[in-house]
Amino acid sequence: MFVTPLTVHPQINDWLGINLRIKRDDLYPIIGGGSKGRKADYIFNSNVVSNFNAVVTAGSNQSNHLRATAVKAAEYGMKMIAIIHDEEPEIYSGNLKIIQNLGAELRFVDMKNVTHEMDKAMLDLRKLGYKPYYIWGGGHNVDGCKAYYYAVEELISQVGNDPIIDFIYFATGTGATHAGLHLGFESFSPNTKVVGVSVSRPKQRGVEIISESMNELAQYLKTNSSRNEINFSDEFVGKGYGSKTNELELLIAQFGKMGLILDPVYTGKAMLGLIKHIEMGLVPKNSNVVFWHTGGLMNFLTN
Ligand SMILES: *Cc1c(COP(=O)(O)O)cnc(C)c1O
Repeated sequence: MFVTPLTVHPQINDWLGINLRIKRDDLYPIIGGGSKGRKADYIFNSNVVSNFNAVVTAGSNQSNHLRATAVKAAEYGMKMIAIIHDEEPEIYSGNLKIIQNLGAELRFVDMKNVTHEMDKAMLDLRKLGYKPYYIWGGGHNVDGCKAYYYAVEELISQVGNDPIIDFIYFATGTGATHAGLHLGFESFSPNTKVVGVSVSRPKQRGVEIISESMNELAQYLKTNSSRNEINFSDEFVGKGYGSKTNELELLIAQFGKMGLILDPVYTGKAMLGLIKHIEMGLVPKNSNVVFWHTGGLMNFLTN
């Protein structure tokens, strides 16, 4: 596995009045970077690579998960069918252009038919003699959660526990990252407050799914499931997944001038959440905070 850098940005720290470090999973070494690359490295474990020779998974035109999966599938010489619940665009850009270039077979389908189309793709591959592996959209499975559990161990080995990290902020979507980070911090740095900023889901549903994923991960790790409350902030979703506000765009522009690219779908909302929580006093001045930068460069380029 790869260790991503932890960077300090004095201008950002001066502005926010906290001791912020940024965990650069946007630089994770996979084409396009990001958290889906870290997850894909765990999903394509030795068991998958030696027992299967094809994969089926799903996502939108600009899915980071589809792109990361397509990279791994191509690297291992596995055939991939990408079920895309979007209209086929006239001109391919961003993630879609990469996915196509990596040789995945693209099937554009209606959102309501995704499960059916994934099942059909599995059958089609079996008929052709392949042994296909099925991956949920978003890489939402226990391997994806594991990736972020062990990422916490990686972070703590980079920084130690003195002083402890007071807060972790990051973007939460399907919840796999959140589940892994929550349990990971409980194991490796239990006094850190782990705060996921939702990019789409309302709190109740978000917390439900994260709990389920955590139970599954705890079972795998043979530990108890979590004692701590899940901190899930749904105040910055705006009008839902991919929606933009002026405030968000201004923030992204401001961070650009300080050397950091945030995207409007994921990391911009997470940073907005952190900044609002500082303003509200939920994150006190001079706190030690790590912002987990989960990527989103392709989403910046195409939104
Ligand atoms: C998928 C994704 C997330 C959210 O991760 P989940 O594990 O689905 O919650 C955050 N940031 C980026 C850039 C992503 O691609």
